[in-house]
Amino acid sequence: MKSFATLDIQYAHRFYGFQGEAQYLHGHTGILTLEVEDTVNMGVNMVFPCNEIKKTAWEVLQNFDHALILREDDPLLPAILGVYEEQGIKDGAPSNQQKGPAFKTELATAYPECRLVVTKETMTVEGMIKIVHELLKDKLNIVKITFTSGVNGAIEEYTPGDEKDRCPLCGVLLNEDDECPKCRYKK
Ligand SMILES: [Zn+2]
Ligand SMILES: [Zn+2]
Repeated sequence: MKSFATLDIQYAHRFYGFQGEAQYLHGHTGILTLEVEDTVNMGVNMVFPCNEIKKTAWEVLQNFDHALILREDDPLLPAILGVYEEQGIKDGAPSNQQKGPAFKTELATAYPECRLVVTKETMTVEGMIKIVHELLKDKLNIVKITFTSGVNGAIEEYTPGDEKDRCPLCGVLLNEDDECPKCRYKK
């Protein structure tokens, strides 16, 4: 069986070098649906508590929310960082609190202090799915990711990994010590 959670992400981006309106900076509300597969966990009668999928995903994905997403070779990047620097908000601001931990993967680097994500490839809906999968594949048994943004949408499916040990009391993934990070249940 599968559990799924949906998150929405507001972001600004552009398709650098693309011939069309999308080469100009613009914004979207992106809708991301994550489907997680496993057996139904005895005790909680859920595959994975949906709020926990959301929480796990949001921890890293909040770096994309109210953020600017630009490709690494986009000349807007140094221009915008220059303005942020001048304004004194490049390295953070008291009002910039909704931040996840900074991350760097093959496909994307997050700079939470200035709400910026720099990507290797153009951040299309397909590109976003690749980035999200890379960020979450070890944390959730993801079998499907759907991402829509405006009229664009894409779906990718994945082969489920091994069954993961979850807490019989709250359903969340047990840590390396076979302990529940939420309620401290120990296997
Ligand atoms: Zn767009
Ligand atoms: Zn627990």
